[in-house]
Amino acid sequence: MKLAKLAGATLAICLFFGYSDSMYAAALAAAPANEQDNLPFTAPGPNYRGALPYAEVLIDAGHGGIDGGTFHEDVLEKHINLAVSKKLHARLQQLGVSSVLNRSDDYALSDDNRWLGSRSRHQRDLSQRTELTQEIHTGLLVSLHVNWSKRSAAHGPVVLHQKNRGESALLALCIQDALNQQQKTNELPRAGSPFYLLNTVKQPAVIVEMGFISNEADRRMLTSDKGQDKLAEAIASGVRQYKLFFR
Ligand SMILES: [Zn+2]
Repeated sequence: MKLAKLAGATLAICLFFGYSDSMYAAALAAAPANEQDNLPFTAPGPNYRGALPYAEVLIDAGHGGIDGGTFHEDVLEKHINLAVSKKLHARLQQLGVSSVLNRSDDYALSDDNRWLGSRSRHQRDLSQRTELTQEIHTGLLVSLHVNWSKRSAAHGPVVLHQKNRGESALLALCIQDALNQQQKTNELPRAGSPFYLLNTVKQPAVIVEMGFISNEADRRMLTSDKGQDKLAEAIASGVRQYKLFFR
């Protein structure tokens, strides 16, 4: 959280005064050694001989198939995640950021699991998501989700990052900031330590909880074509902002 605050302050300064390489370098230098181990993630060199081409961003459309995620009446999270993921993919393309989607339709990733002989479908699903980040060579993982609360007033976006990982915290901050502007909220990103995906993925990864399905206004945004466009636009601009730090 210390680093998140530090990166937050740095980003705020950078946004206010304009981008500066040295400011971010100073923030990284101030991070404890174990946090620097993973920094910075770089694209593979010319000798990279992976089976698949390199993409800068792996978009994880959360849930799918038998796993609908959270829901409100007949509105299922998995459909929202997929719709925004496709729009995000298109938007990133427009911005010149290469990306791949880990599912392009409504199916569970566990149906295609080749790595873990677990009987738990949920576990196979999660391991598949993690393994995909290793098999498809990507720089970042952005996992899209929808939140739920028993308080119908709870609303707004929350971005979760890997604990003690500076790049992940910075990516979360950039996406959170863009979503806050889009939704006129003032949330801060958080460390999502209990999340298997965040704990096991090697590259900088974030979980984007785009809004609350349990809140009427959020639900309207999450399910409308226009609202999904705006979400994708905001997330893409957050990713782009993050990438500016590593130019
Ligand atoms: Zn979810």
